[in-house]
Amino acid sequence: MTLGIIETSTLLPCPFCGAEAEGQYGDNAVISCTSCGASVTAETTMIVRPPSAQRDHQMWKAVGAWNERRAVAPAKEVG
Ligand SMILES: [Zn+2]
Repeated sequence: MTLGIIETSTLLPCPFCGAEAEGQYGDNAVISCTSCGASVTAETTMIVRPPSAQRDHQMWKAVGAWNERRAVAPAKEVG
């Protein structure tokens, strides 16, 4: 299984600890914090398209979910 590295320049810092986030693409696109381990996973229905298009779509969804989470999540979460 080849894992692609999601372009990190599009990723915002972790909403919880401010550390750098990194993304990886495998069966799903996963973006996780390098420090606290917070993560989001994007699962998409496999579309009949070139794999590169499918991958781009999943990465786009994961990055969007991560960045959006930052916007809605409090700077510090209790518990
Ligand atoms: Zn973090």
